[in-house]
Amino acid sequence: MPYKDPETRRLKQVGYSLAYRLRHLERAREIGRRSYYLHGQTWKKKTPEKARLAYQNWVTANREKARAHWALNGAVRYGKITKPESCEKCLATGCRIEGHHHRGYAKEFWLDVVWLCRPCHNLEKRNRPFKPRSRGR
Ligand SMILES: [Zn+2]
Repeated sequence: MPYKDPETRRLKQVGYSLAYRLRHLERAREIGRRSYYLHGQTWKKKTPEKARLAYQNWVTANREKARAHWALNGAVRYGKITKPESCEKCLATGCRIEGHHHRGYAKEFWLDVVWLCRPCHNLEKRNRPFKPRSRGR
């Protein structure tokens, strides 16, 4: 159905999609997260050298974070720490369990982690006070 002016048409469309989004907010968010993740995976596969460069850039910008991650990965690999099957907060099993560096990334806390599932880990990270990126720009 044609509208008289394009602006009304645009607003109508936006209004409709917004209304839909609000009605199914959680589902819409889930779809958004999923497609964001899949897009990242496709991009990684399509341009592996760019993905490697991006990771290297991340490591340069987040040195201490990367060191903490490597230390933890190594400790898990060589059996110094056992990674539990379930999330320590919501007790979910059968999902990806991540080590949350809840005391920060200083060397003495490298292996001091709380094991959380992905959603709990994201919540924990979001609750942390905002710290601007140290990229030097
Ligand atoms: Zn959890």
